[in-house]
Amino acid sequence: MRQSPPPRTYRVKSFGCQMNVYDGERMAELLAERGLSAAPEGEDADLVVLNTCHIREKAAEKVYSDIGRLRREDGSSPLIAVAGCVAQAEGDEIMSRAPAVSMVVGPQAYHRLPGMLEKATKGERATDTDMPADAKFSALPARRKAGPTAFLTVQEGCDKFCTYCVVPYTRGAEISRPCSDLVTEAQRLVEAGAREITLLGQNVNAWTGDDDKGRAIGLDGLIKKLAKLPDLQRIRYTTSHPNDMTDGLIAAHGEVDKLMPYLHLPVQSGSDRVLKAMNRSHTADSYLRLLERVRAARPDIALSGDFIVGFPGETDAEFEETLSLVDAVGYAAAFSFKYSPRPGTPAATMDDQIALAVMDERLQRLQAALNRDQLAFNKASVGKVCKVLVERRGKYPGQWLGKSPWLQSVHFEGEAAIGDIVTVELAEAGPNSLSGRLLAPTIA
Ligand code: SAM
Ligand code: SF4
Repeated sequence: MRQSPPPRTYRVKSFGCQMNVYDGERMAELLAERGLSAAPEGEDADLVVLNTCHIREKAAEKVYSDIGRLRREDGSSPLIAVAGCVAQAEGDEIMSRAPAVSMVVGPQAYHRLPGMLEKATKGERATDTDMPADAKFSALPARRKAGPTAFLTVQEGCDKFCTYCVVPYTRGAEISRPCSDLVTEAQRLVEAGAREITLLGQNVNAWTGDDDKGRAIGLDGLIKKLAKLPDLQRIRYTTSHPNDMTDGLIAAHGEVDKLMPYLHLPVQSGSDRVLKAMNRSHTADSYLRLLERVRAARPDIALSGDFIVGFPGETDAEFEETLSLVDAVGYAAAFSFKYSPRPGTPAATMDDQIALAVMDERLQRLQAALNRDQLAFNKASVGKVCKVLVERRGKYPGQWLGKSPWLQSVHFEGEAAIGDIVTVELAEAGPNSLSGRLLAPTIA
């Protein structure tokens, strides 16, 4: 392996979930602390970090093609680090198949990236896919991220072992970050301009910790603590598991004004037999009853979910049960996927894998139903007067883009600035966004 001069510029490319976005930001902060600067858009970087996702098919192949694309015209490559869940799952193979890669680092070890980088410049290749018990978070520098919205990882890993899912293997066991560290990080983000913080975790509502007096609290307790930060206006959290929706968290939706009326609660299927085979430990009915309680606490809440079609053995009738559940809920938004066998998971070797053509047809029907409901939800919002957090400029001069409390994209024209929370009347609805009329600028 060749030696290289110490890199001066970096680019971090994150794929997949919001937790990867957060991890990508943290790696960028680590590199910035070492004096590297972000390569300007469209310019070559001395170091490229590919922060990968392994949740669905072809993830690994995508990494190899991304690595290939980094090759420059003169045949050289930047220093390349592969991070994230593909690194964790297939690190050794990446090292043997892709000589251009000098660093492979798993999602629990990326705080050690600067040390690996030093070795890489001397021509040494290194893999670190340890899952150290001591949390990486304490080794990371203070946040530098600025802007009106921010992610904050509060919980990592998963002990649920849904039979289709790779997360428990790539992200390890559930851990919760200490409450005081989270308050400090949130404070820092708010000082840098954050008006909205989204709390992240693979099972964010499994978060537990201690308050200042050493009493055990759950996610609702953490939300109430963060709601006391005066300049923080909005709190969201994702992704939750139905089994960890505690009474306290449901009640918080009715009690904490800053907690936005939006809940992403994946269900995956409407068939109890499929849910059992998935090891989901909830039924369609228990999920629907849970949503009734959430709606009782916060009647205007927007609901969102995740769905998998074509889990091994899923019959036509079982798929119809998923469509019935969708009809019963009326989702404001949702994510739906074709089942993808993940190496090493129990479902990958189950009998009755479903043909791709069947999955395609089911996904189309499901997405048609979900799109119908999303449009209906947006149309039902027309005429409402709500607060919009301004996130960026729109496509046209004088246009702004922001989010409603229900996480809808709203564009409007008028006097505003990024980070403002303005009052808007929702005027027209499309499937993916609404247009609004600015009523009053309200500076947060
Ligand atoms: N922890 C969350 C939960 O319990 O639902 C979700 C985390 S997972 C990163 C995000 C979504 O990816 C899941 O809700 C599921 O719908 C989808 N997913 C996970 N494994 C999958 C697979 N093997 N094939 C297709 N979709 C999958
Ligand atoms: Fe994956 Fe299930 Fe854990 Fe969600 S709860 S991360 S779907 S194993």
